[in-house]
Amino acid sequence: MQKASPLSLTKSFGFGDRLGVATPGHLAAALGYDFAPIFAQQSIREMARTQRTPTEVMTAAETALKAAGFNGVWGADADHLKTPEDVQVTAAAGFTFFTIDPSSYVNNRADTMSASQLEPLAAQIEREDIFHPSDYLGKTFEFGSQSLTFSPETLTRTAVKYGRAIAHSANMAAEIRSHRADADIEISVDETDFATTPHEHLFVGLELKRRGVAVTGLAPRFVGDFEKGIDYKGDLAEFERQLVLHRQIAELCGPYKISIHSGSDKFTVYPIIGRVCGDLLHVKTAGTSYLEALRAVLRVDPQLFAEIAEYSHTRFATDRASYHISTTDAEVQALEGSAQQDWEELYLDLRPGRQLLHVTFGSVLTVGRRPDGQTFREGILDRLTKNAALHEELLERHFRKHLSLLCQG
Ligand SMILES: [Zn+2]
Repeated sequence: MQKASPLSLTKSFGFGDRLGVATPGHLAAALGYDFAPIFAQQSIREMARTQRTPTEVMTAAETALKAAGFNGVWGADADHLKTPEDVQVTAAAGFTFFTIDPSSYVNNRADTMSASQLEPLAAQIEREDIFHPSDYLGKTFEFGSQSLTFSPETLTRTAVKYGRAIAHSANMAAEIRSHRADADIEISVDETDFATTPHEHLFVGLELKRRGVAVTGLAPRFVGDFEKGIDYKGDLAEFERQLVLHRQIAELCGPYKISIHSGSDKFTVYPIIGRVCGDLLHVKTAGTSYLEALRAVLRVDPQLFAEIAEYSHTRFATDRASYHISTTDAEVQALEGSAQQDWEELYLDLRPGRQLLHVTFGSVLTVGRRPDGQTFREGILDRLTKNAALHEELLERHFRKHLSLLCQG
């Protein structure tokens, strides 16, 4: 088995594995397609929520790949890194792909500020040498068959919103390069309040380029809804129109890959994404593998599944807070008392049940216990280990659906 390595601009697909036992199924699906696989991928937040260390995440993938006799190239993504300390611990564990999340430095209030509110903030970042208006004003940026110019107000707003985030990203990239000069570096701005506009993407891309920060990917926030654990919701034609612009801007400023976060289960838009992005594409998935694990648990031990579902109901109101989902408390309550023969459909195929289980994974895997005191995590891992073939088959089927639709465009 080869160690994880940087993938550079190869088309790639990330398989997040919160339980540490999904790699055999991920590998089985990946082998049939031309995406470079990322078999270790966890955000700092997910590692905190599952109480796993970066080394444990790496070891789980390596052990499975070694056992399978896999000798191909694969990557390891330390996702949503916010601080230099996040870089240090994940670099030490052997991660090769580093996703910088500068969201704490994005000024979302800039979207609604008046020109007179924006001006002093823009003047301040100019004084700090964070941005230079002359790089933009009076210039036309051409890409594909499009061209963009910045009006003074659009420039001021965009610079105030993203200027400090780019400065922070440049510092993070320098930290990453000090550990691994050839690392893959991605910048994610997907967890913002509104869709990333072409002007915003262009500004971020040009500022990174000006600072000499070479990235292999950028994750915009797309139009429409990329909710956790379910299909895309939104206008497909508008999604495609915006994606074409993002792809062209990525070629102008990089080239770098367009990275699709919350990429799980976005089946309706996969053919569009595959067709528009071509090889300049990275897709990230994570929670959907946990749901396939629970599908395996339900099929072999409905009693354990019932206990997990019941516990998830008690956690939903609290755990949903940090997630982008539309499922309401009432929709979740309506699932209670349903018949066992309907559970797979209600909890694992349809939105309310999927989102209920998606947002409560941290509590289930670190706090929840069975009446006899066994932790849910131990119970789940025991059933998955004893039924490894079923678990692998469910994951393989699920990710073949993802990958084949991405290749269908
Ligand atoms: Zn993300």
